[in-house]
Amino acid sequence: MIFTKDDLDPTTVQTIHCSTCSTCLVLELSKFEQIIEDIEIKIEQLPILICPSCDKKYLPQETRLFLKWVVKEGKKKSETKFYSPKHSLDKRYNFCENVNFLYEATDYNYIPGLMRPWNDGALTPVFFKKTVLQKFLSDDDYTVTLGSNTYGTIYHPHGYISFGINRNRKVIAWLKDLDKLPIEEQHYFRSFNVKSDHDICSQFYDAQIEVKWPVHSQERLLLMKKEEFEKGCKQYFQLKISRYSDDIDEILEKIQRPVLWNEKNVMFVINSLNKITTESFNSIRIKEEIKKLDSNFKTNGLGSLKLLQKLIQLKFPELNAEEIMKPFFVLNDFRLVLDHRIDNPKKILDSCYRRMGISENKNLETLYDALFKEITDSFTQLNGKFS
Ligand SMILES: [Zn+2]
Repeated sequence: MIFTKDDLDPTTVQTIHCSTCSTCLVLELSKFEQIIEDIEIKIEQLPILICPSCDKKYLPQETRLFLKWVVKEGKKKSETKFYSPKHSLDKRYNFCENVNFLYEATDYNYIPGLMRPWNDGALTPVFFKKTVLQKFLSDDDYTVTLGSNTYGTIYHPHGYISFGINRNRKVIAWLKDLDKLPIEEQHYFRSFNVKSDHDICSQFYDAQIEVKWPVHSQERLLLMKKEEFEKGCKQYFQLKISRYSDDIDEILEKIQRPVLWNEKNVMFVINSLNKITTESFNSIRIKEEIKKLDSNFKTNGLGSLKLLQKLIQLKFPELNAEEIMKPFFVLNDFRLVLDHRIDNPKKILDSCYRRMGISENKNLETLYDALFKEITDSFTQLNGKFS
């Protein structure tokens, strides 16, 4: 494609989003050939932003400045041609100097929004295999909270570090944040470190760089309240309330409002929601907390929901623990109905509607909406205890 005068203008701001379809752009070193102001410019590998959906190309600010410089110098020397095999940066920054992380200064300089002249290189993205999260997800010394399937935070004994998950399922962290980790943790991260794929697209980027959250859907709101609850338990009781498996980002990704309201589509979301709540509540740790408060209470044979209900009763006697936990029990029953795993599905489904207060318009959508609303409300009530 031929870039227009506007595309080449270094004074206009280039964002990470495609202006045609608003998809998040990827940085690529790609071939550039164009005549600009009578100078034939050919660069084999030039940093360019490409839209993975519609293929439209954009020039990062720094690339525009570079091309402007090429034209200016060419004119000065009365040259008509410019050729370069590659235009990129190999710079190292003053972070994590004892751990030789793989990263690319080109990302920091050419991906929109990352450059901080007063703190050079701080927001250089460093990429990791997703399995880097395994240790933090399974070890009780760490807590991982997830605001979405592409943005999370790891709490470790010395502080915390936020991370993103990009479209290629790579974990991304900022170089300056890695620098704050104890040296042995930096070495752990280094062992999962991979080369940059130049794709920063994630809610991690949206939240930290663009400070823009997507419109709050009820699905997203529930996840945010759940994350707040996990953080509160961690902060106030040193309690790791949830334990996730390492495919958690894939499960979270499925929590999106169905487009078609048939059993199969609804089951997909309801199953995932049950996985990140009922199935992820950390029964072992909850039992330990209960024992501390009521050593006579028999926890044997109780499932995670009953245990959590008891813990809420003990910690916050002023709350109605049974009401708070009700939608979680309904969620679990609804899942069994959709899964055809019970004998009398009609009776159970009726009881789900009844417990959610639905007497008219009994359908999958009304039950789904009521569940999301009530679970969100339950988390909100609990979070009120943390502020
Ligand atoms: Zn596009």
